[in-house]
Parts: sequence; C-alpha cells; structure tokens
Amino acid sequence: MNKNSSNVMALAPNTPNKRETVCIFGTGDFGRALGHKMIQSGYPVVYGSRSTQISNLIPKDAEVLGHAEAAQKAAIIIIAIQRQHYNFLTPLAEVLRGKVLVDISNNLKLNQYPESNAEYLAQLLPGSRVVKAFNTVSAWALQSGTLDASRQVFVCGDDVEAKQMVMNIVRALGLTPLDKGTLLAAQEIENYPLQLFPMWKFPFFLSLGLTAFFFFYCLALDVIYTYIYENNNFSFFIAITIPNRVFPVMALILLALVYLPGIFAAIIQLYRGTKYRRFPDWLDKWMLCRKQLGLIALAFASLHVVFTLVTPMRAFVSWRTSKGIISQVLNNKTEPLNNTNAWISDSYLALGILGYFLFVLLGITSLPSVSNNVNWREFRFVQSKLGYLALILCTAHTLVYGGKWFLSPTAYKWYLPNIYMLSLVVPCAVLVVKFVLIFPCIDKPLTQIRQGWERNPKYSE
Ligand code: NAP
Repeated sequence: MNKNSSNVMALAPNTPNKRETVCIFGTGDFGRALGHKMIQSGYPVVYGSRSTQISNLIPKDAEVLGHAEAAQKAAIIIIAIQRQHYNFLTPLAEVLRGKVLVDISNNLKLNQYPESNAEYLAQLLPGSRVVKAFNTVSAWALQSGTLDASRQVFVCGDDVEAKQMVMNIVRALGLTPLDKGTLLAAQEIENYPLQLFPMWKFPFFLSLGLTAFFFFYCLALDVIYTYIYENNNFSFFIAITIPNRVFPVMALILLALVYLPGIFAAIIQLYRGTKYRRFPDWLDKWMLCRKQLGLIALAFASLHVVFTLVTPMRAFVSWRTSKGIISQVLNNKTEPLNNTNAWISDSYLALGILGYFLFVLLGITSLPSVSNNVNWREFRFVQSKLGYLALILCTAHTLVYGGKWFLSPTAYKWYLPNIYMLSLVVPCAVLVVKFVLIFPCIDKPLTQIRQGWERNPKYSE
C-alpha cells in the first residue's frame, strides 16, 4: 500500500456499516427534516407520534408508531416537540428510563423560563439521560442542504456517554459538534438563536448616532447658514454633498475608535503595573466589537469612494466648472495653474487611495476564511501595524484636504468648526498617544507587563 492510500485510510471515519435506529418524537417541520437527513445518512428512523397515519410529508423509509412503541425501538430519542407539551412525556417515564433524550427545542424569548428547556426535561424524567443539541440548526437548512454557514452543532449534557452518542450522530450527518459542557450550558445554547447580531448593536447604534449628528451639523452649516446669510438655496446638498462629507468623517472616526480601546488598555495596564486585573466592563465590550466597528468604517469609506467618483456627473459641478471657464473668457484672462493647489489635490488623492487600499486589506483579513489561514503574528501585523498605517494615511488625507480651511475665518460659520476639524480630534489623539507609547521607556515596561511581569505581585514568594 502506498503512502497516500494509508493516509486516506487513516482519515476515514471508523463507523460501523449498520447504524442504530433513532427515534424522533413529533412529525412536525423539524422532526421531518431531521428524520430525512438521518435516513440519508443511513440511520433507520422511527417516529413517535400522536397519529400513526403515514402522510406524504413523512420520509418514506421511516416508520410511524405510537410514542411508547417507537421509544422501545431506539436508545436515542429526539424530542422534536415544543416545550409546552413536554408534560405528555411524564406517563412514558418508565419506557424512557435510561434512554438518551435529545432536547432540540427553542423558545420565543430570551430567558423565557427560569430553567432551560433541557433542564426542565431532565427534571420531568430524572431516569433519562438528557442531551441538548441541534437547536441552532433550522429545519429549512436541513431540508435545503444549505448548512454551510451553520455546520456547528452545540451539544451539552451531564452524561458523557450519552453526549458522545449524540455527537457521533451529528458527525455522521456531516455537521460539526461543539461540546459546550454540562446541561448548565443549555440556557446559553437556547439563547443563541434568539440573539440579533449581539456584537453589532453598539457599533450600529454608535454609527447611527454619529451619522445623524454630523448630517445635521453639515445641514446647519452648509444649507441653513448659506440660505439665511448668503440667500443661496443649496438644499440639493442633502443628496450627495453632505453624505460625501459625513461618510469620510465617519470612516475616519470609526477607524480611530477601533484603536482607541487598545490605547486605553495600555494606559490602564501601565498604571496598574499588571495585566492580571480585569479591564472595566465597558472596555471589554468595546474591545470585543472592534472588528464590527472596523467593518462599518470600511463601508463608510467605500461609500465615500463611490460618491466621489460620481462627482463629475453632477449638474452643480459642471455648472461651477463652466462658470469658471466663462468668467475667464469674459475677463480675457487664463488663470495659471496653481502649483501649490495641484500638489495639495494630488497629495490628498494619493493618500486617500493608499489609505483605502489598506482599509480594504484590513477588512479582508478580518474575514474568518482569511484570518483562519494566517498565524497570530501575521494577523497582528496586518491588524495592528498596517491598521495604524491606514489610520495615519486617512488622517493625513483629511488633514491635507481640510487643512487649508482651518485658519480661514469663513470656515467658522456660527463660530462652529468645520466638520473636517471635528473628525480629526479622535484620530489625532489616538496617533499622538500611540506615538508616546512606542517610546522605548514606555514600550519596554508595557511589553514586560504583557508578558506577565507585575510591579507589585500579589502572590510573591
Ligand atoms: P411543529 O412543526 O409545530 O411540530 C411539533 C410537533 O410536536 C407536531 O408536529 C406534533 O407531532 C407534536 N405535538 C404537537 N402538540 C403536541 C402535544 N400536545 N403533545 C404531543 N406532541 C405534540 O414544530 P417544529 O418546527 O417541528 O419544532 C419542534 C421543536 O423543534 C420545537 O421545540 C422547536 O423549538 C425546535 N426547533 C425547530 C426548528 C425549526 O426550524 N423548525 C429549529 C430548531 C429547533 P405529532 O403530530 O407527530 O404528534
């Protein structure tokens, strides 16, 4: 036998040819979808149902019997029934004694009951071995075969052998079991399908709030002020001009907010002289949603790119260009090329393009399919070193573009600073503090702390 074929043999699952019968209580959507998948994977399936009539919907190779009769045919029983009907199982306690009961149920609300459905089932039938599994897989995904995004099946239970039996079935169905421990984890597993983008909440609402603030800020200065004091109606700015001011500002601020918690963490660690004390809750939560903040920032940067590319198509822009040309014709005077302006515009465009390129690179490396293929050092290099470089380039892009207005009194309508000045506060603060933190006299103790050194060790000999 050659080397390759022996490798193939080693990887082949060590499964017996004949699989054990599995019983499913309930011929509803999930029971049918799971039964169908199990039959495809070679498991004989017997349904326990209130009605033993065979319908077209039930997989054709499955048997349908009464609950007690069906339960006697298998060691594993999947309870594909809503929790509120679990009471009907109590009279079956004797038949179900010693059997592995798989609770797959979900609830309608987070923490709907004081105990998890699986724990409730275990209380109702103390002689059975309850395992929680399959609740994060949908009947639709099982039926349509679109399980790529949800191959993981969380499994938990107090009986190790029972849990192992269920995990073997999960594997045989082509899914990946993830052992979450004892039945105490069931509540958490039941809450998973009810969560709505938990890591996105803070970044989403923060972005929404900041976008609304900057939008109205620009509306006041660029439209309302101009209308009141200059009698110009620029209300059409609402469609492209204002969004294209708000998008880059949001992209820059959110990118800076990705790096700001790391700065806070470093300051806290330096102050405490240890890494072994927990960060405040708000900082922990902030750190956990940095990827989401970065991806929203990338979305804003991409919108800025698209809105900028359509600029030449705008009626307002062609009117302004032709107005400039006509005024030169009327005055019979060609304005010479302003070399400084040419430098400024080319520089901020170049900085913007490079910054956006790195921004996209950061976004790509945060995708699980990519990040799983780079090692920790490579990931840190991209996310930290190249990330800071992206922040520097984007900040410089804004500085070069907006800098010329900073000293002009006309930029301070109603004594308020221009939006570009506001957008630079957080990124500049982050970059300045980061610059200080990389000084050897600060970086050295910080690196030592992060390697486990403590200024005042609690457990010294
Ligand atoms: P379903 O379509 O309503 O089916 C539930 C089945 O329970 C019924 O077909 C019925 O089967 C049985 N049943 C109903 N009332 C009963 C009673 N009073 N006593 C005994 N049995 C009764 O629900 P489902 O969508 O299949 O969901 C079943 C369980 O799977 C739920 O706990 C749900 O949370 C969980 N789940 C569902 C999905 C999904 O995508 N649907 C995903 C994950 C988890 P018989 O008529 O054969 O007796």
